[in-house]
Amino acid sequence: MSKPRILIKYGGNAMINPQLQQEIAAQIFKLQEAGFEVIMVHGGGPFINKALEKAAIQSQFVDGLRVTEAIAFAEIQKALIGEVNADLISMLNQNKLKAVGLSGKDAGMVQAIKYQHKSADGSIVDLGLVGEITHIDNSLITILCEAGYVPVVACVADGVDGTSYNINADTFAGKLAAAVNADQLIVLTDVDGLFLNYPDPASIIHELNESAVKEHMGTTIQGGMIPKIQSCMLALKEGVKKAIILNGTKPEQIAKYVIDNEKIGTTLTLQ
Ligand code: ADP
Ligand code: MG
Repeated sequence: MSKPRILIKYGGNAMINPQLQQEIAAQIFKLQEAGFEVIMVHGGGPFINKALEKAAIQSQFVDGLRVTEAIAFAEIQKALIGEVNADLISMLNQNKLKAVGLSGKDAGMVQAIKYQHKSADGSIVDLGLVGEITHIDNSLITILCEAGYVPVVACVADGVDGTSYNINADTFAGKLAAAVNADQLIVLTDVDGLFLNYPDPASIIHELNESAVKEHMGTTIQGGMIPKIQSCMLALKEGVKKAIILNGTKPEQIAKYVIDNEKIGTTLTLQ
């Protein structure tokens, strides 16, 4: 029988502390010991910001998505693959895991086209080289997982014409979770979950169904929370059984949720 699979999205903002990173590694090891296969998709917000700043490139966000000109893309790719992914692999492998660094480009695993973003008023906003995933071939991830490796995937992908795209890591994680038939999607960020009254952590919403998502979209659900919640909903619709937002700055939350079934984070449900 195949093992249950968990896809963890590791957010840039929860990655900056090396001690926390090691604790995340320990949690992944725990999940493997408990019989789960683990896949990681990572972002790199703070690292990308630093790289763009250094290159004197202005960064702009539209509905939580980074506008990506060609010169910005070159820096983003360097930061994501050359820095964040490479360093994560070193760290994970120092911590008893067999991590393999990939991006959506490897073996043509993830195919993308230019994303046409529609803002709330219905107008189309040009986000540059931001991609939308059109197809995922899950064979490479499956082979790696079944052999005990932890695939660690950076969120860039190529189009059929060879154009490379930057894809929001949350969106990428949701799509990949569905494509590899993950049982669970865990989105790690730097807050406990979705707060009704941000930034008051006591106002955390523990459960959110599709109609509640519609109700809160654009008001409670803002900025970086938009792609997280949308990608969780998409993953659920495409067959992932559980989707949750947890606090990556409290790594112990992972085992508490997966193994001890504690009521933490913001769980997304269809109904
Ligand atoms: P990541 O690097 O994990 O993707 P983001 O900055 O993109 O992080 O998204 C997480 C951020 O979303 C939080 O740090 C917070 O500033 C913001 N946010 C917006 N609305 C809310 C809300 N209602 N509850 C919690 N966080 C929110
Ligand atoms: Mg984000």
